[in-house]
Amino acid sequence: MAIVVLGAAALDTARRIQARFPESRVHALTGRADADIAYEDFGAHVRALYASGVPIVALCSAGIVIRAIAPCLADKGNEPPVLAVAQDGSAVVPLVGGMSGVNVLAREIGAALQVTPAITTSGELRFGQCLLAPPEGYVLADIEQGKRFVSDLLAGKATRIEGRAPWLDDADLPRADDAPRAVRITPHALHDEHSLVIHPRCVVAWIDNDKDVAERVRSALRERNLAPLALAALTAPAHYMASRSLDDAARALNVPLRFCDTAPFDIDDARAIALHVSDAPIDAQSIGRARGTLTVIGLGPGSAELMTPAARSALVVAQDVLGYETYVRMAGPFRDDQRVHMTDNREELQRARHAFELASEGRRVVVVSSGDPGVFAMAAAVLEALDDERAAHPEWDAVKLAIVPGVSASLATAARAGAPLGHDFCVLSLSDNLKPWSVIEKRIAHAGEADLAMAFYNPLSKARPWQFDRAIDIVRRYRDSKTPVVLGRDIGRPAEALRIVTLGEVKSELVDMRTMVIVGSSTTRVMGDWVYTPRWYD
Ligand code: SAH
Repeated sequence: MAIVVLGAAALDTARRIQARFPESRVHALTGRADADIAYEDFGAHVRALYASGVPIVALCSAGIVIRAIAPCLADKGNEPPVLAVAQDGSAVVPLVGGMSGVNVLAREIGAALQVTPAITTSGELRFGQCLLAPPEGYVLADIEQGKRFVSDLLAGKATRIEGRAPWLDDADLPRADDAPRAVRITPHALHDEHSLVIHPRCVVAWIDNDKDVAERVRSALRERNLAPLALAALTAPAHYMASRSLDDAARALNVPLRFCDTAPFDIDDARAIALHVSDAPIDAQSIGRARGTLTVIGLGPGSAELMTPAARSALVVAQDVLGYETYVRMAGPFRDDQRVHMTDNREELQRARHAFELASEGRRVVVVSSGDPGVFAMAAAVLEALDDERAAHPEWDAVKLAIVPGVSASLATAARAGAPLGHDFCVLSLSDNLKPWSVIEKRIAHAGEADLAMAFYNPLSKARPWQFDRAIDIVRRYRDSKTPVVLGRDIGRPAEALRIVTLGEVKSELVDMRTMVIVGSSTTRVMGDWVYTPRWYD
């Protein structure tokens, strides 16, 4: 959930709401307030959140929010909840997202702020319940049919309840035992014009063959007249954990995939797909275990704005987060249910092994790097660990491994300066911890000769005091002393500093471990505050 504020005056209220929803983030307009995530343009930011289905609580006037999301409102089915909350917390106004629980959210935020939410949905006001947003474990069969049903009731028609709907016990519905209309709670597929059909997610499928799973599950459901929406989980023996087709099937059926050593229910027929129908919703998390995941993410150079949404999503669902302390802190704040494992920067392989151990227990593990995880960072360390130890730990191969890219320091620095990497360039680490210095010298010389722009990572450290000046001396053999050099320090962080100097001027006193050094090619030029390398040669 995104709690969006325009200025510092709303921060108190925002944090009170966040305390109730710990996984939410406070988004603040750059330069007006400091929060978890900074944005530049309110309208564009809110529309991007809306488009990605993120629930939005905007602490500003309802009018501002409505105008911002107006261009996106056509598709009513998929909208996330959007609410306006007065910045002093005195009013909570649900705007859109009735089907995704905006009124439930409004009541919860109202409770946190001790105000009555401004609920305007007639069905909800009349019945004290939104019939179209059943609780967790249940799903509405058909939204259009549901809307017709609610308007019929509002027009004075009565209804019965068929099946078990405990959440409707207190609802103020116009009931009549002989009413032709019914709220029907059933796992069966029904086509009944006069009913509001709600499926409990109470069907579990056990698969012991991973071919054409989605298709076979659908037909097994059809045979027993069960609705696909009533499916709560796919379950399979643990040796299918790495099966791609099973994973695809679970995604196609939109249900969790769980692994067990034996079927989680008695199987009475010998078919490859067995179905079990329970009389109440089933919590998939309570069956067997999930396939563990290990996601290596890059946080970008520092600011939340430059972190990709994919990296952010991985952090939201993570159960364990591992990484060098500074980066793990950058990735926070974390919820109480998330375990954080901070380690020293040099223990990369050990961290990678630990990540695999946790993931092979079925946990969702995230390993964080700064910038991009594939650039002098954890992605390679994780693959090295797997390569070295997969024979000894076959269970590591069953872990679902993913690498999520990030904005690397060279790209972030280049963007701040203009486009110094606008033509061919190379990326080099000046650290000789993992390679001999002679290799570095040779590469710099070749890059110099090839007229590549160069991005130097790890330019200098206390343990490597002379290497940077030596590297620059080599470049000077091939480039004019007026060649522009960009020095980006702490880019994307509060202490960000950018300097443009020349190859003649640059020296180790101007750089440290937090600096990115970009040396231009023969065509790189300075124009006012900008540095760029044209895309062509004369
Ligand atoms: N994976 C990281 C790089 C890790 S190596 C990435 O893709 O960015 C660490 C080096 O990256 C540092 O010594 C420094 O040269 C550079 N660096 C990382 N973050 C930086 C930042 N915010 N500003 C400038 N340089 C940075």
